[in-house]
Amino acid sequence: MRFILFFLRCLASLASGLGKKKKLFILIYHRVLDAPDYLRPGEVDINSFDWQMDLLSKHFNVLSLEEGVNRLNTHTLPDRAVCITFDDGYQDNYKNALPILKKHTLKSIFFIASNFLNDGRMWNDSVIESIRKLNCASLNLTKFGLGTFDLTTDQDKVSSVKQIITKIKYLPLNEREKIANHIAKLAADLPNDLMMTEVQVKELRAQGMDIGGHTKSHPILATLEPEEVIDEIADNKTFLESLLGEKIIFFAYPNGKPEIDYLKNQTEYVKQAGYQAAVSTEWGVADQKWDLFQLPRFTPWDTSPVKFMMRMVYMFFRA
Ligand SMILES: [Zn+2]
Repeated sequence: MRFILFFLRCLASLASGLGKKKKLFILIYHRVLDAPDYLRPGEVDINSFDWQMDLLSKHFNVLSLEEGVNRLNTHTLPDRAVCITFDDGYQDNYKNALPILKKHTLKSIFFIASNFLNDGRMWNDSVIESIRKLNCASLNLTKFGLGTFDLTTDQDKVSSVKQIITKIKYLPLNEREKIANHIAKLAADLPNDLMMTEVQVKELRAQGMDIGGHTKSHPILATLEPEEVIDEIADNKTFLESLLGEKIIFFAYPNGKPEIDYLKNQTEYVKQAGYQAAVSTEWGVADQKWDLFQLPRFTPWDTSPVKFMMRMVYMFFRA
């Protein structure tokens, strides 16, 4: 046990770059599940999120995104500076993540796709939850040009979910919605409480967490016309600001891969909307050379403290 602690401390000191210039780690989370879920292998559950936050509070300097970005700008980052971010606005952020963050006295920012608040459901969740409920051997999507998917075993369901989501993610918004709705109609009793309510978003803020923008309907911005991009960004910002009664200053691009999910020139719309900085899902750790409107992040999907720390060290030295 003592050796493990010593080893973790050594890894943490490596992640501060051994006195090299400081960087800002920005971590991405989406869900904090009640328990592991075979259809959502990339998501942490309460237990893993708790040990991850414990590690961060013991070995890193967790800052609000506002402090992290300010100190990146003024070259005053502490060693091992970390910001925690959540995308989309899932209800378990309020129920499961908030108590754990508070237990470890940590701050996080929650980027909200506002059209799904209250009883909404994102298209990818419609696909996942329908396939979980479907009791048939296969799912025929040939009329959408997608083929037929095997649903016999749990493993088949995992691989079908992955394939369907990959195939429809970049289709035009209405096409993607049509296919997701078609699949949803085949299943019964899909959950309508996956996302936070407006009251829960206000409560997160009241408990000291930050809220950021993530568009209204989580489109692939790169596929939209300029007016649609401006609407998606501006309406979401206005909605959240009137809900909270204050300005919001940070934005996260939906899906977030540069030149795939959003285009470099679209960062201008984020600036024009009045945001101060934005985060992408370009894998990396930020230093002064990064564009403040395309700050990199990464997801620490690790199953043990040693692997988590090794990822932090690897990410620090990688780019
Ligand atoms: Zn998102």
